[in-house]
This record gives sequence, structure tokens and C-alpha cells, in this order.
Amino acid sequence: MSAHGGRERHEAGTARRDGAVTPRGWAVLTLAGLAVALLVAAALLVPWSRPPAPRADQLAALRALPVDQVARGRAFHGALRPAGWSALVVGLVVALLLGLTPVGGRLVELAGRPFGGHWAAQAVLGGLAVMFLADLLTLPFAAWRQTVLNRYGLSTQGWGGWAVDLLKSYAVSAVIGALVLLGFYTVVRLSPRWWWAFGAAGAAALVVLLSFVLPVLVEPVFNRFTPMEPGPLRTELTSLAARDGVPVRDVLVADASRRTRAVNAYVSGLGPTRRVVVYDTLLREADPAEVTSVVAHELGHAKDRDVWTGTLMGALGAAAAVVALYLIGSWAPLLRLAGVDSIAQPRAFPLLIALVTVAGLMATPVQALVSRRVEARADAHALALTGDPVTFEAMQRRLAGVNLADPDPPRWEYLWSASHPSTVERMAAARAYARESGG
Ligand SMILES: [Zn+2]
Repeated sequence: MSAHGGRERHEAGTARRDGAVTPRGWAVLTLAGLAVALLVAAALLVPWSRPPAPRADQLAALRALPVDQVARGRAFHGALRPAGWSALVVGLVVALLLGLTPVGGRLVELAGRPFGGHWAAQAVLGGLAVMFLADLLTLPFAAWRQTVLNRYGLSTQGWGGWAVDLLKSYAVSAVIGALVLLGFYTVVRLSPRWWWAFGAAGAAALVVLLSFVLPVLVEPVFNRFTPMEPGPLRTELTSLAARDGVPVRDVLVADASRRTRAVNAYVSGLGPTRRVVVYDTLLREADPAEVTSVVAHELGHAKDRDVWTGTLMGALGAAAAVVALYLIGSWAPLLRLAGVDSIAQPRAFPLLIALVTVAGLMATPVQALVSRRVEARADAHALALTGDPVTFEAMQRRLAGVNLADPDPPRWEYLWSASHPSTVERMAAARAYARESGG
């Protein structure tokens, strides 16, 4: 399976002696182009000019919260932390052990053996074995996390329901993973010199495709979605969307209560699959005016095309990652560690996973920062659309209380992974809006 491995290394330079650009040279140029495109997209589409409200306002908001609510949120997150960090460390160590030693390659070989070592068996079964081994070894931490959710009364699920959810998510990963693995290694075989270009285009297309189909193909695996019942709230939300100029066919209610007491809402999908979804728990826990405030935030995401922004940046990032893997993957010392002679062979898949895991960790705080800025813009939209900062602040307090949020999380944790502004930042933003609008 390594016939093309040697050939590629003969052309390790970026240009041949006759001056023609080699595939490797094109890869360097493509990666540079994608990096520039990603930076331009981030500069133009992410609302950078929306820094958090002043710290003094945040601290005033914190003092306005019930002391026991703050303490409970902090205790809950303190209890979750060891499980979360353990899973992260173990996942990283497993990925590095499989990818930077010959162990992962041997696992891939072993998985393909019953099929005579056929490349497709190695690619699909070996690939899935590597992916699921890491999942399996971090399973105890997922269970630990679930015991914390149970202890704090946030989960409404027994272990049976938890296990079914887990099996469903494994099944979804296995189906998507098998298709991607088979597609990727087919392209590698068909085009040993240019697979990185097809792979990059394919990865970008896959990100766009998943944005379209996840709400209709995957989300229903985990929840039931029903149109919101006709009534004053539905009428209010529909007219709010109309006033906002955002065409929303339906507000869908997800049966989140089968799993959690937490309240939430989100927008997903693109074009014909776009939907605003509210948790049934939100309708049960919050006042109608607070639900309106939440939906106004989601309309902000729809209006500013945040799903498109995320999809575009995800597609550019995925394409860049494939090209970068091709370039890094031709580095001989790395291949020697993994005991393979080309990054393009199925036996090198664990090495790919190791590199992707490290890159994913490095991207985590950047993605969180981008997400926080986008979320702050949706909050500003909600405030402007409803003109009701008092309800917005009440809604934030409710969300934090029910969801056991740490309203003012430790700085390092916030910078590492917070996808939303903190509760005190969001309350402070509402107060700033009230001041500025003379409310
Ligand atoms: Zn949001």
C-alpha cells in the first residue's frame, strides 16, 4: 500500500530543476492562500469591535445575583472540572501514543487482517478502531461527568438513557467516519500526487454539507422536534421575526427534557434547513417575555448569517488542515516515529489523528474567542429588537440559575473554552444598553 510513498519523497522540494512547480510547491501556495482567506474572513465577518462590558459593571452584576446561586454554580463547575480535564489529557496521550509510535499502525493492520489486509478494510475498520479506542478509554470520564450531572439534579436521564444516547452518537460517528475514511483513501489511491488538493476540496464540501443536513438527518436521532403550539407566545415570536425581517417558517420545540433540566435555544441549518429551536424546558421554566428575549437573540444569529460565517470559516479551516497534514506528513522523522513510509497510507491514519488532535487543542481558544464575539453581537441584537434590557437581564439570571452556570468563571477557563460571554458580561451589556438608550 506504500507504492506512492517513495515517489512523493523524490519531489520534496517546491520546484523541480526545470522550474515547474511540484505538487508540494502547489500545496505550500494553496495553504498560504487558504490561510489568507481564513484571516480575511475572520477580519470581515467576526464582530471584533464588540469588547465585553467594563469589569466594574460585571462585578456590580455579580453582586446582584443571589449568593447561593453563585456558590452552587461554582461548586457544580468545580465538580465537573476534574472529569473534563482528565478526558482531555487521556484523549491527547492516547492520540499521541497511537500516532507517534508504531502501535496505531499495528492496530490498523490488525483490523484489516481478516480481509487479507485489503486497503479498504484497513482504511475503514482500522480508522474506526483508532477513533473508537480513544472514545472507549475516555468513557470512564464521560460516566464521571454524568454522575456529577445526576448529583446536581441537572440530568433527567437514567444510565439506560445515557447509554442509548452514547450508542447513538457512536453510530452517527461510525457512519460519517466510514464514509469519510473510504472517500479519503479512495482519492489517495486514485491520485497519489494530488490527493491533498481533492482532500481539501472534499473536506470543505463536507463541512458545508453537514451544516445543511445535520438539522434534518442527525439532530432528530437525539431529539423530537415539534412546531410550537399555536397561542399568544407563538404569535408574538412570529411577529417578532417578521418585524426583524427574518423569515422563520417555524419555531420548533425540542424535547430536551428527556435528557436535561437545562434550558437553551439555538439556530441551525442553512437555507431550506434553517430553523430556530427552543428547548421544551425553556418554555416550562421561563416567562413568555424571557422566551421572547431568547428567541430575539437567536434571530440575531439568523439575521447576521452566523451559521454561514461558522460554516465558511469551518470549511476554510478544514481545507487548510488537509493541506497542512500533507505538508507536515512528508517530514521523515515523524514518519519514522509512526513506523510508516507515507502519510497517505491507512497505517498512517493514527498519525493524522494525533496531528489533528494537537491542532484541535491549539484552535480551541481561538474558536471560543470568535464564538464569544458572535454571541455578544446576537445579545446586542436581542436588546435592540426587544428594547427590553430588564427582561434580557432577568432571562440571563434565569438561564444561569437553571443551568447552574458559573456566572463569572475563572479567567483561564473562560479564555480557554467559553463559547458565550459570561453571565455577568451579558447582564452588564444589558445595563450598558439601558444607560445608552436612556432607559
Ligand atoms: Zn447564541
